[in-house]
Amino acid sequence: MAIPTSPKERNLNGSAAVAAAVVPAAGRGERLGPGAPKALRELGGVPLLVHAVRALARSRAVGLVVVAAPPDGVAEVVALLDSHGLDGKDVRVVAGGADRQESVRLGLAAVPEEVDIVLVHDAARPLVPVEVVDAVAAAVRAGADAVVPAVPLADTVKRVDPQAPGVPEPVLETPDRSALRAVQTPQGFRRSVLHEVHEKALAEESAGALPPVTDDAGLVERFGGRVVVVPGHEEAFKVTRPLDLVLAEAVLARRRASDGF
Ligand code: C5P
Repeated sequence: MAIPTSPKERNLNGSAAVAAAVVPAAGRGERLGPGAPKALRELGGVPLLVHAVRALARSRAVGLVVVAAPPDGVAEVVALLDSHGLDGKDVRVVAGGADRQESVRLGLAAVPEEVDIVLVHDAARPLVPVEVVDAVAAAVRAGADAVVPAVPLADTVKRVDPQAPGVPEPVLETPDRSALRAVQTPQGFRRSVLHEVHEKALAEESAGALPPVTDDAGLVERFGGRVVVVPGHEEAFKVTRPLDLVLAEAVLARRRASDGF
């Protein structure tokens, strides 16, 4: 484990097919309530970030994990990851940015150039099963430029005309639910594609043109690339609100009871 290193100091088993994972973990997580940055909140006594990094490291497809830490918390995150066993994988920490998009861009800059598959995984999805990580990496390896794991929606979704708090919002339309998917992470990319769309987004953002997107596949779509979906998993949910932590504790307890996870 080390803070960002030069591309020469790599540990990628010499295989170009091995993917790197970038973990944006620099968010405050205010919807979870006051306290430590979200990635450092604990689940079963272990920080969300450590769960997320372990979930990636468990995949044989992943040879390197780059964590984008809160800019004022890099040393803390390095110490934290050092204190947990991480399956012998190469884990690096860089300072994240002001929004998720910037954190991913900074993480990507620390991935050695010869790595041609990059997965981007939210620290806030600590319980993603290894099968999802493997499936996303395999779909990129099989030729897709951009891959997202996704699940069908339980709720019907309405598009509304947003109003001030307390003002009822007029419904504009009800999209056909059978064609909607809730997307998760890790999202997988050919590295050149991810790099290119982040550079384009940066250029457009500094020209004052477009707001940041909420996922990386959205950037690929914005610039005309093709994104495909593979099956996600209900346990890959994002820990956003306090109730999500209760659910995550229950999933973890069940795993620990059933297989000593
Ligand atoms: O806020 P949200 O839950 O959408 O954040 C998704 C992920 O992006 C989280 O893992 C969070 O830590 C990360 N993030 C980041 N840098 C920011 C804001 C969010 O790495 N400045």
